[in-house]
Amino acid sequence: MTAESMLTGRASLITGLSAALLGLAGVACNHGRLSSGTAVASSEQASICTGEKTPPDRGPPPPRPTGRYFRPGSAQRRNIREPGMPGVWLNLSGRVNDEDCKPVARALLDFFQADSHGKYDRRELRLHGHQFTDGQGRYVLRTIVPLNYLNRPPHIHVKVQAPDGPVLGTQLFFPATLRAYGMRVGRLNAHARSFNPALAVHLGPRRGNRYSARFDFVIAVA
Ligand code: FE
Repeated sequence: MTAESMLTGRASLITGLSAALLGLAGVACNHGRLSSGTAVASSEQASICTGEKTPPDRGPPPPRPTGRYFRPGSAQRRNIREPGMPGVWLNLSGRVNDEDCKPVARALLDFFQADSHGKYDRRELRLHGHQFTDGQGRYVLRTIVPLNYLNRPPHIHVKVQAPDGPVLGTQLFFPATLRAYGMRVGRLNAHARSFNPALAVHLGPRRGNRYSARFDFVIAVA
């Protein structure tokens, strides 16, 4: 089974399950409630969409044993930052649009990243989760800034998929203005073949131990 078919199957399964749960619980979860919290303010800004597709990554996947693709079935959650987890907080938000700059509702986003020590959870549980965009194509991720490992710039792995669309596997990077863990982000970016400025998040100013950032995806929907 390919990763694409696994993701497609997972998305379909979870979509159906979520719809059933929403019907039962009267919208008991956070679907469609992206209008709370500091990260959301930036997601309500007008989407800057050129219609150019978000490029796939050109760097290595997460290190073994994670393998080339993520294990399907990560937890569905917008907050992958656990209580007491060390690190600089990051609230990332944005939209998923199609190539006509129309928002994609119920798009699947699966995020996975290293921690503030540059380590991945070998079980693929920590700092890993998936979520779906709301009716306006919006998403919010609450996480921490990852530390770089080896000579890689800090990055977040993400897979994005419109309902029944192809899977985009890519990575998000940070601009040189990021100040965290003593990283020299500009230098790391400049020397990494995997770095793509089109995949750098728009980073707000650091406020205490927290950053807010924005990234809008443009994906194929069929
Ligand atoms: Fe990685």
